[in-house]
Amino acid sequence: MAEEPPIRRLALVGLGLIGSSVARGARQFGVAREIVAIDADPAVRERVSALGLADRVTGDAGEGVSEADLVLLCVPVGAAGAVAEAIRGRMKPGAVLSDVGSVKGSVVAAVTPHLSEGVVFVPGHPVAGTEYSGPDAGFSTLFSGRWCILTPPEDAPEVAVARVRALWEGLGAIVETMTPEHHDLVLAITSHVPHLIAYNIVGTAADLEEVTQSEVIKFSAGGFRDFTRIAASDPTMWRDVFLSNRDAVLEMLGRFNEDLSALARAIRWGDGEALHALFTRTRAIRRGIVAMGQETAEADFGRARPGPRGEG
Ligand code: NAP
Repeated sequence: MAEEPPIRRLALVGLGLIGSSVARGARQFGVAREIVAIDADPAVRERVSALGLADRVTGDAGEGVSEADLVLLCVPVGAAGAVAEAIRGRMKPGAVLSDVGSVKGSVVAAVTPHLSEGVVFVPGHPVAGTEYSGPDAGFSTLFSGRWCILTPPEDAPEVAVARVRALWEGLGAIVETMTPEHHDLVLAITSHVPHLIAYNIVGTAADLEEVTQSEVIKFSAGGFRDFTRIAASDPTMWRDVFLSNRDAVLEMLGRFNEDLSALARAIRWGDGEALHALFTRTRAIRRGIVAMGQETAEADFGRARPGPRGEG
């Protein structure tokens, strides 16, 4: 007899890149017996139905979550509080609420006041994504071999945490737990500040008067091109990330600015030793990431080799 899926009814709120990837994976890997898709946008609901991503699709969040054992908020972090308010009192006792937001402290503060009696909130963040958005962008293996960080409250019942863990492990992720504050500090330096740097450098290049837009695009084979990939990430999602993780981002940005000044000084004074020492240390970090299986070791990020007419 086939094994019973760990989750009977899974309700997903927000069927963008992350929500639709969870839906695809949950179905493909047998993680949930039934999937209910909830999205405020009629165009998204239409696509989700056309793609056959869920057993049921609805715009009514309260009704959609009512029979679910696990409800996963996959909306931008700035919308988590409003959705929690909309489903207040509609989840059944014993059900678990979770989310996928890239910031945890602000989501915990926004969602917790709306929790109903008997419902446990186990926040989460799959550290996986792409620069694309919407239900067409998702794919079932997005979380495979990637980390998923859970930030359960200290008094969360083990059974509730185990249900959320079962979802992510079923999707192929490796689960780790930490506090929301620690999560926000770690992600500020590993994800949020790098995105801010990418948005900034692409913005600066676009504003340069001496260099035309077509030159920026034409000669983007250098490091710039990799920044443009990150800087193409969803504007709503990233606006919310920076507004929600303000303190940790500003703290890390302060340190970044100090280190950048030290680098500028080394260049000004011809201190090649300092530059070489730093670049050697950073190369080791890259090799560590590849060794952990979190990135491809292929040259040029595994992009296809340029053809005869491709860029050099
Ligand atoms: P996305 O592709 O833009 O999808 C978000 C979906 O939520 C859209 O369908 C959006 O509808 C819908 N939505 C927005 N507000 C809503 C509301 N109040 N009620 C119901 N649905 C609503 O975004 P995503 O990349 O999947 O990101 C979703 C969450 O995942 C964010 O919290 C983000 O921080 C987190 N995350 C993202 C990544 C990544 O790389 N993208 C990685 C890890 C975690 P509209 O079409 O109308 O906007």
